[in-house]
Amino acid sequence: MPLGFRKVALQAVGTVLVLCGLIVWLDHGAAQPVWEEQETVELPILMYHSILKDSARQGKYVVSPTVLAADLDALQQRGYRTVTVSDLLAFVQQGAPLPEKPVMITFDDGYYNNYVYAYPLLQQRGMRAVVSIIGAQTDLYTQNGTENAYWSHLRLDRLCEMQDVFEVQNHSWNLHEYGARRGCLRRQDESEETYGDILREDTAQTQRLLSEARLPVPQCYTYPFGACSAESEQILQEMGFACTLGCEEKINTVTRDPACLYQMGRFNRAAGEGTEIFLNRVLEG
Ligand SMILES: [Zn+2]
Repeated sequence: MPLGFRKVALQAVGTVLVLCGLIVWLDHGAAQPVWEEQETVELPILMYHSILKDSARQGKYVVSPTVLAADLDALQQRGYRTVTVSDLLAFVQQGAPLPEKPVMITFDDGYYNNYVYAYPLLQQRGMRAVVSIIGAQTDLYTQNGTENAYWSHLRLDRLCEMQDVFEVQNHSWNLHEYGARRGCLRRQDESEETYGDILREDTAQTQRLLSEARLPVPQCYTYPFGACSAESEQILQEMGFACTLGCEEKINTVTRDPACLYQMGRFNRAAGEGTEIFLNRVLEG
């Protein structure tokens, strides 16, 4: 073998060995730990509805902006970081990390007062939240243009404006009733087939409203009144929802198993309870 050729051959072997070493290092190094270090995370989810200054209106589903601000400050002081449904999906499906102490803050029904009070309070603190809208209400106020902190719901343009803070999820189109039907559940007098058609069409209508407004299409269904059943879960999962939120008061354990994101528990934030008492109850069990 000529000397020059032998030198080249040796260099090539050396290069291959270095590359193999690099691959082994990458395989055991930077690419792996995310999955191994954080297999399960405890996740409390808080549930708010209306935010109003008027003390006469405060109660189970209405708290003052002062209370909300105190809750947010206390969460930050305790080292909690807000996450959204997208963060949970990235953790479960792609192995992305979650903060050490995650908390999810949710607002149900999509009231316009969330824009007036909650949006600036969250934005000032660099926090995020989930707002679950009733599609028919958002559509109604988008059409008529009305904005009133006492009773109107968020218009589509406001939902677009708040994207830096709020992730929008589906709280039905118009199954937010509590009469013959409990939330989105099947009525006594309804066949399984009719019910399936109603739930699918109602849910899809809110998905369409948001997608036509160029907003991200919800991947989470927030049950009206927290009322869920095995058949509603099956239908929503078949429709592609990766997460459902209920109202059972419990802390969630998030794992790499996609099933952990269904029927997640939440704690309702009512007026009348001090921030420290509320958070001690929710975060420390
Ligand atoms: Zn609701």
